[in-house]
Amino acid sequence: MTMRAVQHPFYTDLRANDSASSEASHYLPAALQSLLDMPREAAWQELIDALPVAIALVADVDGRPRILARNSAFIHLSDRRRNFCQESEGEDLSRGIALPLLAALRDFLGSDEADRTLSMQEGDGIGGRHFSVHMVRLRSDGAPFRRCILSLVDRTQQVESERSLRAEMLHDSLTGLPNRVAFAEQVDQYIGQDMSTPRKFAVLVADLTRFSRVNEGVGSLAGDELIITVARRLVSTLRSGDFLARLAGDEFAVLLAVGDNESDALHAARRIQGCFATPVRLGDLEIKIDCAVGCALMAPGVESAEDIIRNAQFAMKRAKYSGHAEIYRSSDSAAARQRFSLETELRRAIERDQLTLAFQPLIALDSGRVAGFEALARWEHPERGTISPVEFIPVAEESGLIIPLGRWALRAALRALAEWDRRNGKTLPIYMTVNVSAVQFQRDDVVSAVQSALMESGIAGARLKLELTESCIVSDPEGITAVLKDIHDLDVRIAMDDFGTGYSSLAYLQRLPIDALKIDRSFIMPMLKDRDSTAIVRAVLSLASALGMTTTAEGVETAELAESLVALGCDIAQGYYFARPLPLDEAYAYMSSRNASASS
Ligand code: C2E
Ligand code: CA
Ligand code: CA
Repeated sequence: MTMRAVQHPFYTDLRANDSASSEASHYLPAALQSLLDMPREAAWQELIDALPVAIALVADVDGRPRILARNSAFIHLSDRRRNFCQESEGEDLSRGIALPLLAALRDFLGSDEADRTLSMQEGDGIGGRHFSVHMVRLRSDGAPFRRCILSLVDRTQQVESERSLRAEMLHDSLTGLPNRVAFAEQVDQYIGQDMSTPRKFAVLVADLTRFSRVNEGVGSLAGDELIITVARRLVSTLRSGDFLARLAGDEFAVLLAVGDNESDALHAARRIQGCFATPVRLGDLEIKIDCAVGCALMAPGVESAEDIIRNAQFAMKRAKYSGHAEIYRSSDSAAARQRFSLETELRRAIERDQLTLAFQPLIALDSGRVAGFEALARWEHPERGTISPVEFIPVAEESGLIIPLGRWALRAALRALAEWDRRNGKTLPIYMTVNVSAVQFQRDDVVSAVQSALMESGIAGARLKLELTESCIVSDPEGITAVLKDIHDLDVRIAMDDFGTGYSSLAYLQRLPIDALKIDRSFIMPMLKDRDSTAIVRAVLSLASALGMTTTAEGVETAELAESLVALGCDIAQGYYFARPLPLDEAYAYMSSRNASASS
């Protein structure tokens, strides 16, 4: 080959792109066009033979496409691919060439188009190869036949890797189930169906409760095994036509056809929950799995798969609280939106220091003195006024904001106590109680948070009491016991808040390092009218004293209540009868005057 030929534009292109990529087919025929104009035929035969793409010169002879010339790649292809194009030069292409290709050539040659590209598959079988077919018309220049250059680029490998990539993209590798992308595609197909015969369908989202805790407890390998077992059980609940996918981590979804009302969806939800009736065995552990199921029915206004999946997720969130399957209602998304904006605003409020603490006195019933204060968070919203912790603590817990909030509350409460000591001129004989959320116990290092708050304020550990709820303990008894012991080592005491509303028994509490019980106000408030409540409170008080725990009664709103609690031997009372939660200065003033009159 001469230097001149090497410098030919198409050759340089080819060197820059030395594989038979599909791009090659786009410029090759154009380059060939000029080659074919070269006078010495041997030169271009040599050149086209050097190309890795199958090329043939085809002429339309009386309506029959015939091969006039071809390169060695084309011959190789014809030999290997007998079905595709096995003809030799000049022969009638219609004998043996794949019919679709023949038809395409005939159609193209008969047209006025300058070029045409199409993809073609040889045969219908799985092993069939894929080609990119490119046809470029040659200038006629007085030639008797219409001619074109046909090039075939084998794209099989590309098509197959695209196909397997796609299969991979649509599958969850752990469970082998379709993934979120595949699920959304399937739902979109249902949504885009023929409106004359629309199928009614629903999407169910099932989320395992407490999975992350199980995962942390047993390790991620066993966690994976658990997910696989769950997937298998879910498969067993499917009816024909149902489509199950793993959306993410511990979230699964089912697409199913339903009738006119919600009952089909609720039945399916119950089937799903029923499959977890028996615990899952992992090694020698038996793990009880629960899942929250939310359902969303296809409805006007749902435009995409994401819409209906999101609706089912909203319903699922509600199911987590209610404990049974829930159907999506439009108020769910409004609630979620409000929650979301509340979350954004709460984050900002924490950053901008817009949270404050109110302090509610804890009264020692034997002396009438202020024994301590409970620190309660308050959010002074610039537009909405004071927002109750009943509203924003759940948002903080769900979003993880409870961790900075809880740490702030600890520090601010102890700082307040140090400030009162300073005003008093000497250490006050009072303690401070701070609420710590179960979420904080799970996700934060509470011990080190307590330690640094004590250090920073210079307050002795014995003057701090943490209030925790039963849910802390029920969720992870072993883990929490270790943490509570470490907290005890700092001299800090522990109170069980809202006692009676959860599930733990006193006998169970005995094994934990708990110093005090706060009896929930739902037992205290009806005491005077309701004998049962009085009986419960009496039983709790006597058991607590047997276990060496101090007792606090919440929600004391009247003098009569306070008096009967004194008679029953309760240690501390808290409630509106004595004082509401007060700002820092007022709390100090209240304590000063009350304790002065109590000691006189
Ligand atoms: P809680 O721990 O049970 O706090 C006592 C709640 O009862 C307070 O509500 C208090 O204002 C209210 N209360 C006190 N005395 C009476 C009474 O005589 N009658 C009635 N009806 N209510 C009374 P608050 O301040 O709205 O706090 C609500 C809940 O928010 C608290 O319940 C606690 O669970 C949570 N919370 C407040 N601050 C924090 C905090 O800093 N961290 C965490 N994790 N939770 C907090
Ligand atoms: Ca409390
Ligand atoms: Ca309480």
